[in-house]
Amino acid sequence: MQHRSNFLFKNWAGNFTSVAANYFQPETETEIAEVVRSSNKIRLTGTGHSWSDICLSNHTLLNLDRYNKVLYCDKANLQVTVQAGIKLWQLNEYLDKQGLALKNLGSIAEQSVAGAISTGTHGSGINYQILASQIEQFALIKPDGNRVTIHHKNDKNFFDTSVVNLGALGVISELTLNVAPSFRLHDQTYVADFDKVIDCLDELVNTTDHFKLWWFPHVEKVVVYRYTRTQETPNDSRLRQWLMDEFLSVNVYRLFLKIGNINRNWRRNINRALVTKFVQPLNRIEKSYRVFNVPKPPVHRETEYAFDLNVAKELLREYKRMINTSEHRINFLQEIRFTKADDYTLSPCYGRNTMWLGAYNADNYGWDKLLADFEQLAMQYNGRPHWGKEFNVPPQYIKQQYPLFAEFEKLRSEIDPEDKFVNDYINRFFCS
Ligand SMILES: Cc1cc2nc3c(=O)[nH]c(=O)nc-3n(C[C@H](O)[C@H](O)[C@H](O)COP(=O)(O)OP(=O)(O)OC[C@H]3O[C@@H](n4cnc5c(N)ncnc54)[C@H](O)[C@@H]3O)c2cc1C
Repeated sequence: MQHRSNFLFKNWAGNFTSVAANYFQPETETEIAEVVRSSNKIRLTGTGHSWSDICLSNHTLLNLDRYNKVLYCDKANLQVTVQAGIKLWQLNEYLDKQGLALKNLGSIAEQSVAGAISTGTHGSGINYQILASQIEQFALIKPDGNRVTIHHKNDKNFFDTSVVNLGALGVISELTLNVAPSFRLHDQTYVADFDKVIDCLDELVNTTDHFKLWWFPHVEKVVVYRYTRTQETPNDSRLRQWLMDEFLSVNVYRLFLKIGNINRNWRRNINRALVTKFVQPLNRIEKSYRVFNVPKPPVHRETEYAFDLNVAKELLREYKRMINTSEHRINFLQEIRFTKADDYTLSPCYGRNTMWLGAYNADNYGWDKLLADFEQLAMQYNGRPHWGKEFNVPPQYIKQQYPLFAEFEKLRSEIDPEDKFVNDYINRFFCS
């Protein structure tokens, strides 16, 4: 087992760091249990892709990058069992070779499977739930070092309460996922008038397998993404992928960001140019995971809240008005996604079909004010924050947003009576 002392942990966005006295990378489940048993205070990190302080620890930090193998693939029953440190991209590649695929994905695949599940990571598509819904069962090494297996049907209450767990219940060591036969996505991307799209939002959401919007502030247009599941042969050209997804979306976009940093007032025009001159309509077919995942984003700040789908239109119009009439100078897309209601206690989609609205900005300057303004609006519409992104609303507000919050609190204190997996983040919501 790899061990390092005084390990500097830094999350992806670089907005949080901590120094862990001990950093362990176990290679077996026995080693995981040993570390858990011998630690007084412990946290986990997958890929460190959360914007929140959820992973921080000055004590023991555990990482499962060396515990990342595929253990078993049951093609007939469309199931795969993996060690919890495997990254989504590794799983995508493995499944593709087997003629299989994850049913739905978020925008990137760098996360560990366990890390993504633990914060309620999601993609988009109103008939699809958050990624945790793809789990058949998982094994948890509890704070006392003992292992328990939790099955989504046989242990339904336990599963629903524990699958979105914020790393507060122990270490997920293995997971079995229900997967799909591999499929492609017919990607129809185009630019349309923001107001007109919002007028017919219900129809677009309900008639598209995977629907999302990117809105660049101060632009009257919005980028519309409509992905339809298909078995047709991929026809996307490598040249287009290199030119659009690597050269323009990554290199040229970063150049635009630099120009917008010279004078923040230029950002309105830059956003307009990006949407009207650079976003090209797409009509392509490609492997599912390649379409779900977006070109490599630049480091940026990010918050995202889940809202009842019923308030989507009103909220989006209000958000556009608020940003366009504010002093904020935003250089990054605002993302709008949709997921189906679920039964998971701490899922932001618990009990309601959901619209996700994300405020993103590739600038630390003015971020705190933008976050505060966004959250003011989010609270008016009973939004629930993404556990892995930035949020600053009072813990009491969050508790009120989750009908079964007390059940998670009860489970957590029963499983971890000595608060082994508690850091400041967990303490804010569950121990005070
Ligand atoms: C560029 C970028 C794009 C993103 N896109 C999306 C998106 O499209 N949709 C979305 O919903 N989110 C998205 N996110 C957020 C991201 O999916 C979540 O924050 C996710 O939790 C990060 O996974 P990770 O492996 O990096 O986990 P970390 O951030 O390292 O950890 C997250 C949590 O998981 C816990 N954890 C990790 N491993 C285990 C384990 N083995 N057992 C128990 N708990 C564990 C940790 O303790 C912590 O509580 C994005 C983030 C970035 C940086």
